Amino acid sequence: MANANVVEERTEIAPEPAPMTPAAAIAGRVAALRTKLEAEKVDGMLIMRPENRAYISGFTGSSAFILVGAAEPVLITDFRYTEQAAGQCPGYKIVRHGHPPVNTIREQILAAGYKRLAFEKDYLTFSWHETLREKMPEVELVPTEGLVEGLRSVKDASEIALIRHAAEIADAAFLKVLATAKVGMREADFAVELEYQMRKAGAEKNAFNIIAASGPRSSLPHGAASDRVIQDGDFLTVDWGAMYQGYCSDCTRTVVFGRADARQREIYGIVLEAQLATVDAVRAGLKGMEVDAVARNIIAGRGYGDNFGHGLGHGVGRAVHELPSMGSRSENVLVPGNVVTVEPGIYIPEWGGVRIEDLVVVTESGREILTSISKELMEL
Ligand code: ZN
Ligand code: ZN
Repeated sequence: MANANVVEERTEIAPEPAPMTPAAAIAGRVAALRTKLEAEKVDGMLIMRPENRAYISGFTGSSAFILVGAAEPVLITDFRYTEQAAGQCPGYKIVRHGHPPVNTIREQILAAGYKRLAFEKDYLTFSWHETLREKMPEVELVPTEGLVEGLRSVKDASEIALIRHAAEIADAAFLKVLATAKVGMREADFAVELEYQMRKAGAEKNAFNIIAASGPRSSLPHGAASDRVIQDGDFLTVDWGAMYQGYCSDCTRTVVFGRADARQREIYGIVLEAQLATVDAVRAGLKGMEVDAVARNIIAGRGYGDNFGHGLGHGVGRAVHELPSMGSRSENVLVPGNVVTVEPGIYIPEWGGVRIEDLVVVTESGREILTSISKELMEL
């Protein structure tokens, strides 16, 4: 058959998890948010941040307004999305808005009887706030932060399954690209090939722009893939992730093209020691800053403290950077269900750098690593 090769080339990965957010999960999230809204002494909440919207309703379209409070939850969207929303959002009333949408939003808020309305103060734009204030003078707008994000930071089993699958796609794609990577290719070629392999394996898209920084550029912690041609003896630091059904993975590996020299081995060895010890330290009950300190102390003890200038890691889910923070000032306390990265690095200007990053689930008994790619120094 004409397309038989295409089918055979697909990367073998684990079976795909169920595509829909289970109705029971949506109901549980709405109930948990209601409890938070009561504690905030507000009647309801207007949710506009896309990741929060998708989490609390299951809706994956690009435009909608959600109202959650004591009344039946409402999803307000336009003609393009009403049918999709009806299929994706169990337990929600779906309302089609006209233009401007604020008139419909107001009607629904008044119908629900919400007098004090929470909004996402780190997402709602100034102009939207002005519009809401002008059109709904009878409603008190209450700025809130992190209500849905806090719920999102603790993943249920269905979410962990999606993140695990995203990580499997990313791992398989990286190993495929490594098998053919060679001196003389551009960083951008590596990145494009990696994205292609992830898409072929079922990813919707990159979870974020792929970082592929070689040679001296590897000292740039967020060096976007450039036209630089990879040379013999270069480090290549690759930081990539797949998005699968709205959930991200995040991983970094640093490899050497050709043979590593003594200094490359030394720096790689320090980062690896710090990374292994810190992954082992991850457990419920620790603050982000306490986990960060494990890696920071090891790297500082070897004299490279000033060369580890970013936080240890971050939560990952619908957003690639979300709660809990794993930085040196983070008071966030880890709980089972958090999915976090552990990504220490050492960056030496004009020489290069090493970062090693794994995705880790905090469990009742400790942690589980979702990344399967070896962390021993790979010489290609
Ligand atoms: Zn990363
Ligand atoms: Zn990361």
